[in-house]
Amino acid sequence: MSAHDTLVEQTRATLERIAREFTPAVFASSLAAEDMVLTDMILKAGLPIGIFSLETGRLHPETLQMLDRVKEAYGYEIAVYRPDPLAVDAYVAEHGLNGFYDSVDKRRACCAVRKVEPLGRALAGQKAWVTGQRRAQSTTRSDLPVEEQDTAHNMVKFNPLADWSEDDVWTYLRAHNVPYNALHDQGFPSIGCAPCTRAIQPGEDIRAGRWWWENPDSKECGLHFVDGKLIRIKSVAA
Ligand code: SF4
Repeated sequence: MSAHDTLVEQTRATLERIAREFTPAVFASSLAAEDMVLTDMILKAGLPIGIFSLETGRLHPETLQMLDRVKEAYGYEIAVYRPDPLAVDAYVAEHGLNGFYDSVDKRRACCAVRKVEPLGRALAGQKAWVTGQRRAQSTTRSDLPVEEQDTAHNMVKFNPLADWSEDDVWTYLRAHNVPYNALHDQGFPSIGCAPCTRAIQPGEDIRAGRWWWENPDSKECGLHFVDGKLIRIKSVAA
């Protein structure tokens, strides 16, 4: 068995354990490549792990199309959580629609309204949640464990792809004919909200296209906490 096949088997085993021991559990999908690996594994195995996505109101059309593409491919409707419209209105009134470019605080405030609060709603009542984060995605995530305690949400958080490389992700997607976000073919290895994500050049860090105007130390959206603390990037190096 190849190293990749072993990784796939381990990841399937992790998902089966989550389904067995942590019901109810949910998977937070950003609809990017990593998340499509987990979507494929969960849905093909019929595991009782709900899949949801945060529709921030600022996503690319290509990302939104993934909701329909998943439905077509698997007959499964991903649950969508949207921000509170009153909170969005208040943010826009105070800071402007794109106020997040002005300062880290304003950017975090936008993420708080459009991502963090809806995430809290999506996770309410769950025993565990699952993400598609990988250790190799950035130095922020160099210590990422497969399983950790998310004290902010008071539940267990699983990162079943923690050990996966980018090559593993694409090997899996191609081998299993999994639909993926068209932006990945346009230089977007990491995909978030449209105004906060851009294509990168060959050789650039794969997270370099996210919040590129900020100091790397501040580049997190507030969705991922370790021991109650927001994960921060430790260095710029890939
Ligand atoms: S990524 Fe950008 S647009 Fe999306 S919630 Fe954060 S600051 Fe707002």
